[in-house]
Amino acid sequence: TEHQNEILNRQDRGESGKFQQKAEAELENVRKKAKEVLEKFEAQKEERKPEMVKVQPGEQGKKVWQLYSTQHEVARRSLDNSIRELYFYTLNQLEKHKDKEPVNAFYNHTLNQMLSLLAESSNFGSTVDNSGEWHQQALQNLSSFIQNRIKILQNPEDCAKARILLCDLNKGCGFGCQLHHVAYCLIVAAGTNRTMVFEKDGTDWRYSQKGWTSVFLPVTSCSHSAAVPANTNVQSWAGVEQTDRVVRLPIVDGLSHHPEHLPLSFPKQISEFLLAHHSNPPVYFIAHFIWYLMRNNEHMEKVLKEAEQKIPFGEGPIVGLQIRRTDKIGTEASFHSVPEYMKWAEHWFRIQEYRNNGTAIKRRVFIATDDPNAVKEAKEGYPNYEVFADTGIAQTAQVNSRYTDASLYGVITDIQMLSKCDYLVCTFSSQVCRVGFELMQVLKGDAGDLFHSLDDIYYYGGQLAHDEIAVEAYKAEKPDEIDLEVGDSVGIAGNHWDGFSKGQNRRTGKTGLYPSYKTREKWRIVNFGIFSSWNS
Ligand code: GDP
Repeated sequence: TEHQNEILNRQDRGESGKFQQKAEAELENVRKKAKEVLEKFEAQKEERKPEMVKVQPGEQGKKVWQLYSTQHEVARRSLDNSIRELYFYTLNQLEKHKDKEPVNAFYNHTLNQMLSLLAESSNFGSTVDNSGEWHQQALQNLSSFIQNRIKILQNPEDCAKARILLCDLNKGCGFGCQLHHVAYCLIVAAGTNRTMVFEKDGTDWRYSQKGWTSVFLPVTSCSHSAAVPANTNVQSWAGVEQTDRVVRLPIVDGLSHHPEHLPLSFPKQISEFLLAHHSNPPVYFIAHFIWYLMRNNEHMEKVLKEAEQKIPFGEGPIVGLQIRRTDKIGTEASFHSVPEYMKWAEHWFRIQEYRNNGTAIKRRVFIATDDPNAVKEAKEGYPNYEVFADTGIAQTAQVNSRYTDASLYGVITDIQMLSKCDYLVCTFSSQVCRVGFELMQVLKGDAGDLFHSLDDIYYYGGQLAHDEIAVEAYKAEKPDEIDLEVGDSVGIAGNHWDGFSKGQNRRTGKTGLYPSYKTREKWRIVNFGIFSSWNS
């Protein structure tokens, strides 16, 4: 009011004209300055520490503009993750009482606010400043580089002289499990600079009498007979230092002399870059071995094209559900009802609507399952949803028809369609969903957070210890909880998706629950010689 009085006084004294002129001139000055700063910022954008990215050895590197530092991006993701953990915690606490007033109103308001907050955070990491595009470009370049290095490894000039790692395709388990087994061999091959060759050239496969190449391209240009001629001295795996030319790798369950390259490790040669651009570097890295292995042959490519045409990808977001039932239930995983999956799909759609200024989004889900009833239930129970699924595939996925060619085409199709979805809801205890999630990383750039698992966190069969580091202290409040001190390593067993995770404190040896937001990943960053040329 003092300021207003001053203005009135001046007006009384007939000075208002002068005063306004002065104020406008000042304002113009401020505008000009702001414009200058912006222009300078824009002009420097291209110059600011460009990241030189080598796509192929010898090829001119592509330039990716540097938007933010690694530290900045790590901090942003950490914030996003803490918001998500708060959402899990609050949701779980309120859901217990949400049918009673006044909790019901409180629940609804809090849920809305949480979803809106997640939307803002998600925009912050993608649409603001085009950082999403920046990450995608950078990761695409890195993807081409990794694929290229694997290709060179798998196609040596002289198969009879190349260092060879022999791998048996036929692990006694399902498709996802076998694929992860082969990817484990290929990762060890990459870590030890060896070419991976299948025993019997991969002709012996429980899924198809026609072998690996009935659906995929050959993994190497070296036939078994060229790489391992009769009378070759084949040695058992004895560790990374082994100098024998041909080495046979056992399945990971029977492995001794574990190489440090095993998941969830990733190469130090690309670690800084990867940490700037991806929320889950280990998954991104592993994904490239899966991607290389799953290069389809012509026939499989045709099958996939047909399947893809039946799903309206590109017409709006689609959430992929993988509902694993039959032989898994009661042995390796618990039963989860269709509404459990749909709840997370619905939340995700609502977040997208918040991101989209409230514009309604058509609800679409794609379902992959080994239980045709799950599809029926979703169709009948959710009339506002468009449900896409191939019940023929679900039929062949059941246990009695599983190990057939038709079932093989089916599971590959389901996995590929899941990877094309915008978000996944599934149980990570199923390798089918994990493979879909892995492929998503190569397709979409940073898709590390585009999932909700109803059970496990992401893991890799036979992985080395998965540790986290406490960044805040915690004093156990209940008998099933554990203490944390800043800097403690915690071997994480799982996230309960209710604000708490379970793990073992390496310092105290105690196992129990602790608030998930109090820890951060302790990455395993190791030497992978074949990726050295990334920085050269
Ligand atoms: P996990 O047992 O779920 O961890 O995955 P595996 O891939 O190791 O073995 C399960 C097998 O069951 C798969 O390889 C398929 O043959 C079949 N299966 C399980 N879930 C699905 C699914 O969603 N779609 C299809 N088509 N097949 C599935």
